[in-house]
Amino acid sequence: MDESRWRRCSVCKKDIGFRQVYWVCSVSTCNRKRTGLAFCSTSCWDAHVPVMRHRDAWAIEEVAPSAAAAAEAARKEERAGQTAPAQGPGATPEVARTPRRIIPGRGASDAAATPRAQPAAGEKEILIVVSKVKDYIREVAGMKTADAVAGILSDHVREICDRAIEKAQEAERKTVLERDVPRVSSFR
Ligand SMILES: [Zn+2]
Ligand SMILES: [Zn+2]
Repeated sequence: MDESRWRRCSVCKKDIGFRQVYWVCSVSTCNRKRTGLAFCSTSCWDAHVPVMRHRDAWAIEEVAPSAAAAAEAARKEERAGQTAPAQGPGATPEVARTPRRIIPGRGASDAAATPRAQPAAGEKEILIVVSKVKDYIREVAGMKTADAVAGILSDHVREICDRAIEKAQEAERKTVLERDVPRVSSFR
């Protein structure tokens, strides 16, 4: 093993040295433990976006661990085996950092700048596809569905979205990610 190299860039295969700044992708599938992609530069990160067909992604700045920290992490991982929690490549838990984010190809005209139109009080918007829900209930149970159910289900969706928004805000993100949304198992 090369002593000066931590990893290689997933795109150009250039070395990423220990303690060197590198970039990871915001999309969780690019950050799976085994396949975790790392990029030497934002242009290498840019290069993988069309390949992976990302619609909403950004690069997150990271710093490679020191050689000693990497060796220590590898030892810990061996001990913890398969049960270790998934972390991004080169996650350095001892340092709390505020990563920079680079969002590609998007001007200031992003829809995020436009405040969301709020429906008038008392008439809340339906957020679900009512016909699909009715189909589902009919298929699963052979039952009909009252129209008012759509409003209640929309309230649930709103509530879940609000919780996800909170988590994204806590992480200082401008995008609600998959991981922000409560799983069904944790949802009462
Ligand atoms: Zn590269
Ligand atoms: Zn990606």
